[in-house]
Amino acid sequence: MHRFALGLILAGCSLSVLADAIAPEFGPDAHQAVDEAYGRKIAEYTTDPSFNSPLTRYLPASATVPTPAKVLGDVAGAPNMLPYSKDVYRYFDMLAAASPRVKVFHIGKTEEGREMIAVAIADEAVLNDLKANDARLAQLADPRTIAMTDARAEQLLATTIPVYYITGTIHSPETGAPTALMELAYRLAVDDAPYISAIRRRVITLITPIVEVDGRDRMVDVYNWHRANPGKTPPPLLYWGHYVAHDNNRDAMGLTLDLSRNVLDTYLGWHAQVLHDLHESVPFLYDNTVGDGPYNAWVDPILVNEWQMLGWDNVQQMTRFGMPGVFTHGDFDTWSPGYLMFMAAMHNGISRLYETFGNGGADTVERILSPDEYARTWYKPNPPLPKVRWSQRDNNNYEQTGLLTALDYFARNDKQFLRNFYFKSKRSIEKPAASGPAAYVLPSDDIHRGAQAQLLRVLQLQHAEISRASAAFTVQVAAPEEKSKDDAAENKDASKTPGRSKTVARTFPAGSYVVRMDQPYSRIADVLLDRQYWAPDDPQKHPYDDTAWTMGDLFGTEVVRVTDNAVLQAKMDAVAEPVHAKGGISGSGPVYLVDNNAESSLITLRYGLKGATIDVAEKAFDAEGRHFGAGALIVRKVDNAAFGKKLGELGVEAYAAAAAPDVPTHALAAPRIALMHTWIDTQAEGWWRMALDKLGVPYSYISTQTVAREDDLRRKYDVILFGPVGFDDSGTILNGTPLWGDPIPWKVSAITPNMGIDSTDDIRPGLGGPGLAHLHRFVDQGGLLLAAGDAAKFAIDMGLAPGVSVTPAKDVRVVGSVLKAIVTDSASPVAFGYGKEFAAYSADGLSFKLSNLLAGGDNLPNSKDYKRPTGRGGPHDIDAPEGRPAPETPELPTPKAWEALPLNAEQTRYSLFGPYLVIPEGQRPHTIVRFGDADELLISGLLAGGGALAEHAAVVDARVGKGHTLLFAINPIWRGETIGSYALVFNAIMNFDRLSPDVQTSKKKD
Ligand SMILES: [Zn+2]
Repeated sequence: MHRFALGLILAGCSLSVLADAIAPEFGPDAHQAVDEAYGRKIAEYTTDPSFNSPLTRYLPASATVPTPAKVLGDVAGAPNMLPYSKDVYRYFDMLAAASPRVKVFHIGKTEEGREMIAVAIADEAVLNDLKANDARLAQLADPRTIAMTDARAEQLLATTIPVYYITGTIHSPETGAPTALMELAYRLAVDDAPYISAIRRRVITLITPIVEVDGRDRMVDVYNWHRANPGKTPPPLLYWGHYVAHDNNRDAMGLTLDLSRNVLDTYLGWHAQVLHDLHESVPFLYDNTVGDGPYNAWVDPILVNEWQMLGWDNVQQMTRFGMPGVFTHGDFDTWSPGYLMFMAAMHNGISRLYETFGNGGADTVERILSPDEYARTWYKPNPPLPKVRWSQRDNNNYEQTGLLTALDYFARNDKQFLRNFYFKSKRSIEKPAASGPAAYVLPSDDIHRGAQAQLLRVLQLQHAEISRASAAFTVQVAAPEEKSKDDAAENKDASKTPGRSKTVARTFPAGSYVVRMDQPYSRIADVLLDRQYWAPDDPQKHPYDDTAWTMGDLFGTEVVRVTDNAVLQAKMDAVAEPVHAKGGISGSGPVYLVDNNAESSLITLRYGLKGATIDVAEKAFDAEGRHFGAGALIVRKVDNAAFGKKLGELGVEAYAAAAAPDVPTHALAAPRIALMHTWIDTQAEGWWRMALDKLGVPYSYISTQTVAREDDLRRKYDVILFGPVGFDDSGTILNGTPLWGDPIPWKVSAITPNMGIDSTDDIRPGLGGPGLAHLHRFVDQGGLLLAAGDAAKFAIDMGLAPGVSVTPAKDVRVVGSVLKAIVTDSASPVAFGYGKEFAAYSADGLSFKLSNLLAGGDNLPNSKDYKRPTGRGGPHDIDAPEGRPAPETPELPTPKAWEALPLNAEQTRYSLFGPYLVIPEGQRPHTIVRFGDADELLISGLLAGGGALAEHAAVVDARVGKGHTLLFAINPIWRGETIGSYALVFNAIMNFDRLSPDVQTSKKKD
């Protein structure tokens, strides 16, 4: 083994020496002094010479410009040390103060108030011309400004300098980028090597050294704790950003996080050409830009070519330097537009991403790779080594070498990339005529006005242009799918012919919103509003992330894809301000009626009107010349002016009436909510926490450990929300992690000042037996436990949902798909405001089965399982015994996939085996929402084997004593994308004390 390793080192050396000769363009400037001491440290911290390159083996010296060592006390990538964001920023400020080639810009703040920066580096002359250069870039970015004339574009790009934007450490445990980017900035500012001088002249390099600043500071805390407690197990990074962990790199669609909006605004504000995001989870440098199929269906083919050019040049150069393990291609599919880098892909730029190798800190350690990591494949002819000693400096060498060669390639082809940028922008504007669609229309008569406005605001945050029709217009739209069986068969045949579809005329009223596709950022609007289809037999068997995200469906608002170019001739005006639904009071009277259209704003209203009397109508009614559905609010005892103002802010309309309608009602509660998290993972619940915060819903943030200590939960809380854990193991949720070794704290201390959000002296214990008993008692005493995903499975496993089980998955394949959900109990308050059906997000195809028995429900006789015995007649005849009349047989129940089989008297009578397994009436679970029928279950994304999921329960109300356990197989609150299903949760919260179905009604059903 030792000899083998030595051989590798020698090979590395000789290759590197050779590389200097092959690529003299990357060598240092002969006239420039080098910083010998810094170079010696680089060599010392690099664990193998092949893990460095001629580009980063030396550091040029400067009499005036400080090196990173000035702030770090050592070289970039030095072992045993990670700088906090403030130290990283201090260095960039020093650099900008010392060099006219560097400028620092503040680009916004994080959720916790930390600064984000972008650092521009180029020749002084280029930086002095930033404003004029940006004006030229802006014209190339929007070819409408130059009448789409290629000749004018050529003139512009002759004098325009492109912008290459690099972003570091969005993923906080991937720790190398800040120091790598500090040193890279120094090199770009100081080095006189001919290739770097050319980069400075021909490219503006823009750097955000830390994207997730809150998470970076917490990660440095964790690392410092680790250094201060040798031999002890450090806490995992339980919180990265304020709300989510690695999902911060899935927010480029919803733009719910400050970091996403800050990076996008910077990227588009600079009219940059590339967004290159740095990660560290693959050895040694995986340029995943090229990735694998299926490629996102909305990217410009020109971009696909650019990925290949940049990716393969990177691989070629670094292979020449003798650096092992540099490759592009690989298993990352390029389907989802949720990644930070994809902001560029969807805005006419170039998205890029490096995965380099990192140790999750600055320790230098031996790393053992897995066979699939070091295997030689067709796209990895020079694979990583199976076993290495790896340092943070090695990581910094790879990151910088990759970036320098990329910048060099980009600089050498600057005009080509600028020209492509112009053409991609132009082609985005030409979309209606080229590929379509012409526009998306959001009709003004949609009752989901809040969700509609919210969706349009997301598009505005994406810098897409929105217009509003000033008059009604009529265009051809796709004909609605026909329902009858004959037509269905016909449609099936038609669907085999690509491109065939029927159209019908549709008139949209004035005030409808139009998202025109003849705009530079049509692509982002198209990708968010269109539907996705992932073929079940796609060669890619492991989708990297969600396969669907269709925002109109998930927001629960109508979005019409229009291919008829006549739509572009409709009279419309550009919308300049953020879209906001109109709200206020019409009419007069002391009682205000607010319809319930399953909008999130109602819960904000409920908690915002603490003193008011709010009742909820249990049935539909007509008043003030309007129809109100079940769930409408009846508000009294509010100050008219203040109420009107609140409605205006929320975009909610109220109708004043002289008296309350004659309809059964109950008081709408403003319950005390607890959001419970585990100490295993806090990300999926983070999306729930964010939703509550953004909507102004008060709650206590508690952990399973709090519940373990709190023996009277009901005294403090009415509702406990238990969002998905993301661990899928009930035993671990119950028990926590094993108590090996010492306690593992997560709390603020002198050495960990940023380790906040929640705290514990020891993250290991879980809910435990006492906690589970407390939770059980909480529900039994009338509380509502609302659990989703693996938390719902946990509730089932722990006996908190008698009669409910998880449907065996069989061969169901769902990966983050949008599926049809059907309301089966429209009388349930949970379904207030929902029509017959809506679109729901399913992470993995989870569904539930119901039984009126605690066990054995699967074995009850029913008409579906019945097989006639051998005997007389045909398969459907009655087998009458000879010698007496055929007896009347009791009718077997016909099962519905979402319902429990009804029990007959025999099954509930006293017997030796007892009726103790029979769940009493009034304590039986029932389904509120089920999945759609098999032939219409899939709305968007991947679905295979859907038969085993179709019709099964998606939202179930289970009973424990006086309370309820409400189970969600779908995830109603996910990544700020599922706005349309939020109200299921909020309805349940506000009606937590009225969830029981009317006993009278349920008797009639049985
Ligand atoms: Zn990452």
